[in-house]
Amino acid sequence: MSDSSVLLSHIPGILHGFGDKESLLPAHLKAFEATRPEKKQVHGTRIVDVTQPGQDCGEADGFITSVPGILLAVFTADCLPVIFCRKDGKEVAAVHAGWRGLIDGILEEMAQLINQSGDTRDWVVAIGPAAQSCCYEVSQELVDTFMQQLDFPPALISPRHRHLDLAAIAEAKLQALGFAGIDHAGSCTICTTAGSTTEGTAFKYTSFRRNSHQRAKDPSHPGISGRNQQSGIMILR
Ligand SMILES: [Zn+2]
Repeated sequence: MSDSSVLLSHIPGILHGFGDKESLLPAHLKAFEATRPEKKQVHGTRIVDVTQPGQDCGEADGFITSVPGILLAVFTADCLPVIFCRKDGKEVAAVHAGWRGLIDGILEEMAQLINQSGDTRDWVVAIGPAAQSCCYEVSQELVDTFMQQLDFPPALISPRHRHLDLAAIAEAKLQALGFAGIDHAGSCTICTTAGSTTEGTAFKYTSFRRNSHQRAKDPSHPGISGRNQQSGIMILR
């Protein structure tokens, strides 16, 4: 079973889910794959208002729609998939946010878009599987950048030496932006296992970071191209 958000499961008339290695796109979303907007994710902050199935969105990392029957989905492999839904299920959104998107303000950008015609207090948000603070080691310079730019407790930003907690940072930002509820689905994309096979440990998620480490040791190890998991949400009717 792919991961889902308890908070979003209570909203009528929508489908959502977070993919993993076994189901890159959750099985119950597959039938709607052709309606997905075309896009290239670039760790940016551009968000597109989607009005047509299969809309060509160019370079974009965020999507919002009030049109039923269009699956908004983002590819991730350690970055945060962040899925948004108005509490009445009449408008949905999805964002791909890594450290760069968080620092550059893609969540603030989404809140601003929502507030143009509505209110973030009428929306809930689910943060999906991503690299967590157990494994997400970065440079001290990057930790310092986060500490300087964000007015959050240092232990929230970096609970371990040189490790960032992207999900906690995103949650703190979403709270400050006024969203009514925030929950988390899934677990760490780098270390979560899904049992073991004859070839060794099987991992639950595709992880860019874990894959890079494997490729550093064994250059013949395949890359993750085409194997990113997808998280998505759509209005059914
Ligand atoms: Zn981990």
